[in-house]
Amino acid sequence: MYHAANPISPPVILGGRRLPLVGRARMYVCGITPYDTTHLGHASTFVWADVAARVLRHAGVTVEVCRNVTDVDDVLTSAARRAGSPYDSFAAVQQFYFDHDMAALGVQRVDHEPRAHNHIDEVIALTQALLDADRAYEHDGAVYFDGERIPAQAGLAPDAARALLAEYGDDPDDPAKRTPWDVVLWSPSNAGEPAWPSPWSSGRPGWHVECAAMAMTTFGPSLDLHTGGADLRFPHHAYESAMAEAVTGVRPFARTWLHIGIVRVNGTKMSKSTGNLVFTADLLRDHPAAALRLLLIGRPWSQDWDYSPTDLDAAATRLDRLHTATGRPSSSPSAETAATRALLDDLDVVTALDIAEQEGGRTARTILAILGLT
Ligand code: ZN
Repeated sequence: MYHAANPISPPVILGGRRLPLVGRARMYVCGITPYDTTHLGHASTFVWADVAARVLRHAGVTVEVCRNVTDVDDVLTSAARRAGSPYDSFAAVQQFYFDHDMAALGVQRVDHEPRAHNHIDEVIALTQALLDADRAYEHDGAVYFDGERIPAQAGLAPDAARALLAEYGDDPDDPAKRTPWDVVLWSPSNAGEPAWPSPWSSGRPGWHVECAAMAMTTFGPSLDLHTGGADLRFPHHAYESAMAEAVTGVRPFARTWLHIGIVRVNGTKMSKSTGNLVFTADLLRDHPAAALRLLLIGRPWSQDWDYSPTDLDAAATRLDRLHTATGRPSSSPSAETAATRALLDDLDVVTALDIAEQEGGRTARTILAILGLT
């Protein structure tokens, strides 16, 4: 029988940082834009966030998890239009499938699930605060965040930052921007696009400010842990943090980050345009969900990796070996401690599972229970 109460209170290392935690941890998970079925990259990000929360809970920390839904987004609006559906009902259907996939993968329910369309007032207030702090400017009904310093703060050369801004929809060549590094806080909407009244125009918020507003509404001016896919590091998270810090003065906005490695297929990042998306629901049709979960977490969380269908068969075989190991009669208490400590040392699942498989018995039962692999 697995007991969550852990008598040892070792230091927790997350995102490469020692994270002294007293009582409660505020964790923000950058959630989905519900315009498409869950693919392996999403699944990896959210399963890892779930592992982080479970490991912290095992260490006796009360974890409060907020995972947002970006249901106001131009990519979603276009997808809904192609499907001939209003953006909000389109998002609700995609959200339903997402929830189904998360439940199948053993991702525990989150405490807060803010949706962008419910937080427009907070976005407007944050945008106004940025204008008041002289970190934003208005132009023809649009409001831009002054991002001139952000690429350097993120350690990016101008060309690299520019390419990433363009890739993620923050058009650096928009002539209305004072510098290519500025990003949209508010845009006027055209007919057929979602729109809300604001002091500047009937319009909609940009993506980065939505997350900043939802995170601050849920947790206040700072977070303990922020997670998301590694491809969100810049521009999304760099700008979200900069916006929050500019209005609150609390630095850092997030004490530590887990940027989960990218899943590739045959060396190429999964994307709609290359047509190489691997959908979670398809994999779950003929493989146990726990095998998929093991495939996602049986590696360092920060590492990019390549998916191949044979990996899933190998994960299923390993899961069988781990489950068999749990039935062995006993294991040494020091092995259990070593395996648990590995998890607290920046989520070293690889070491914890190796010890679990080797020692079996109670050690294996404990580690599989913490990781949600039972
Ligand atoms: Zn976000």
